[in-house]
Amino acid sequence: MTAQLIDGNALARQVRTEVAGRVAALKQRGITPHLSVILVGDNPASMVYVRNKVADSEQTGLKATLERYPAAFAQAELLARIRALNVDPDVHGILVQLPLPPHMDAQAVIETIAPEKDVDGFHVASAGALMIGRPGFRPCTPYGCMRMLDSIGYSLKAKHAVVIGRSNIVGKPMALMLLAQNATVTICHSATLDLAHHTRDADVVVAAVGKRNVLTADMVKPGAVVIDVGMNRDDHGKLCGDVDFAGVSQVAGWITPVPGGVGPMTRAMLLVNTIEAAQTAHQTGSK
Ligand code: NAP
Repeated sequence: MTAQLIDGNALARQVRTEVAGRVAALKQRGITPHLSVILVGDNPASMVYVRNKVADSEQTGLKATLERYPAAFAQAELLARIRALNVDPDVHGILVQLPLPPHMDAQAVIETIAPEKDVDGFHVASAGALMIGRPGFRPCTPYGCMRMLDSIGYSLKAKHAVVIGRSNIVGKPMALMLLAQNATVTICHSATLDLAHHTRDADVVVAAVGKRNVLTADMVKPGAVVIDVGMNRDDHGKLCGDVDFAGVSQVAGWITPVPGGVGPMTRAMLLVNTIEAAQTAHQTGSK
């Protein structure tokens, strides 16, 4: 392997330590940052995710509350519950775990969350703030990727960044964040004709597709930074990313592993958003 590893576990530990310090300072002022997590249904992966989010919060001193509802829960009842949390001054961040059951309109649910408590950064107000370069909650996964780039002191100015994937939660916000740092950004997707043509020219590649081996060594410019957001299973059921790690790590300059890369950073950035929500709420006087 020639690439240097960007260790998401180590960086996430560092972020959690920073958050813990900020939580302690807030607690001294009588404020306990509080994340409220809602899970509807019993999707096994979602259950693991919410357990981790609650555990991470508690380990860093934040209060976390998990509310669970059955898969058949009515959307109107869920919206009513969110509206109650919106006006609860003790709750600073609200996260509704996705995916929701098919009878629910996920975007309508997300948009019921008060923008100032939208710690997932999925509300249209958060997306709009990112689009026009205003402060606001950034979606945790691309936010974590940016922190990873920052951790290696990488300047994006005038670099060519290629984002593979254009989802609202990863690809599009990732592209906007790279753009905000003065990268020249290309967004690729399933209708892109020659993916390798774009990636071979890239100084930074972010793969956010959800398919194994979307990025192979022959598609990467020597020395490029490769960030692997994908979460897939290999033939043995082992977690792997979108990037052919063995091959690409021979060509890239920097690379994130899966597991131990973007995943832990996503979790850590949720804590950052929650503490920001608590701090902002306190500054604006609503507690
Ligand atoms: P998504 O909504 O399914 O989006 C996938 C994107 O990939 C789409 O824009 C799709 O294009 C594009 N795509 C599909 N096949 C392609 C191909 N052959 N070449 C180029 N682009 C292609 O997924 P997502 O929510 O963004 O998540 C992407 C991956 O990241 C998944 O594996 C997910 O599990 C993982 N993830 C990881 C974390 C973490 O914390 N590590 C967090 C979130 C997501 P179209 O738009 O044209 O369909």
